[in-house]
Amino acid sequence: MPTAAFVWAEQLAAYRFTPEHPLNPLRLQLTVDLLQRLGLIGTGDAPVVAPRTADPAEIAAVHDVAYIEAVRAASRDPVPRAAYAEFGLGTEDVPLVWGMDEAARHVCGATLTAAEWVMSGKATRAFNISGGLHHARRAEAAGFCIYNDLAVTIRWLQRHYGARVMYVDIDAHHGDGVQWLCYDDPEVLTVSLHESGAFLFPGTGFIDELGEGDGYGFSVNVPLDAHTEDASFLESFRALVPDLAAHFRPDVILLQAGCDAHVLDPLTHLRCTTGLYEQLVQLTCELADQHCKGRLIVTGGGGYALYTVVPRAWTLVWGALLGRQLADVLPARWAGDLSLQAGEPVPPTLRDPAGAFPPSPRRAEVEENNRRTVNAVRQQVLPLLTGWGLAF
Ligand SMILES: [Zn+2]
Repeated sequence: MPTAAFVWAEQLAAYRFTPEHPLNPLRLQLTVDLLQRLGLIGTGDAPVVAPRTADPAEIAAVHDVAYIEAVRAASRDPVPRAAYAEFGLGTEDVPLVWGMDEAARHVCGATLTAAEWVMSGKATRAFNISGGLHHARRAEAAGFCIYNDLAVTIRWLQRHYGARVMYVDIDAHHGDGVQWLCYDDPEVLTVSLHESGAFLFPGTGFIDELGEGDGYGFSVNVPLDAHTEDASFLESFRALVPDLAAHFRPDVILLQAGCDAHVLDPLTHLRCTTGLYEQLVQLTCELADQHCKGRLIVTGGGGYALYTVVPRAWTLVWGALLGRQLADVLPARWAGDLSLQAGEPVPPTLRDPAGAFPPSPRRAEVEENNRRTVNAVRQQVLPLLTGWGLAF
């Protein structure tokens, strides 16, 4: 059986806005190119799987019909109209572009394809680098996201498998769309570690956002301090996520692996390296192995250092999903050629070597702040865990 399925087709690169927009599908193509050159996809244990598209009913399980109709209309007629603006369509973050409905449905279909491969047992794990559009709301586009492929997939997992889904979000931005869409649902545990909303879009993801109604206690947030580095991010993850998984006992884990916490990312203020993603995904694989027969669905997400970070970070994610410790080498001339294309130096190794970036001058203070945050989260969430009928 393949270890992991890699969901990809060129059509996924059609999810694009203006040439200057930060969410540039070039990052996907550069990642696929690197994986191909390293011989890490298209092999027996790592097949490349063509995505299907999502059908309207699957999208409508998450989004309001009036919103879907507005996206469809804007997709055929991308000129500014009040009827689009009320749904967050036609903003700087989500400009109107021809074909946006089809492109967004393809992305949803690709994450659904990843879920199908995992749930049918055709692969233990699957990765859709084009997915992870975690900001889309029920009736509002936001933060570069039109349809929320993650929530669409969660609803699909519930409908077809009655699955308890643990959603883990390591993007530098709060996974707000998924959180709000599942806020009252005790069958979905959402866990987001992100740069604090005090400093960064979307300005939410604080520790008191715990869910509502039956879902109270099933929304967990770790707002990290600006300038957080690998060690503190990892410490925060380790201090919380394994306990949550042990007590929630998911049937499947859905991981949003946006790589915009990197120090070179132009949109955020965290100071992590590519190696963080390898370690976080290794840890998540262990949790999936312990609690849900290995079932792990992974998407991309943010990542705006198109040349210098995204291909290397997601290659390390893929290596972790394959259970391989990749050698720290890149194909001959890859970094040099890409540096010329990028007009800036592309690091020549997969993992950023120790000392590649100056340490944060606030390191001790940041680590202490994050420890305090995680402790406060534990104090709030753990009593609720016992409410799930489990001794802690
Ligand atoms: Zn992000």
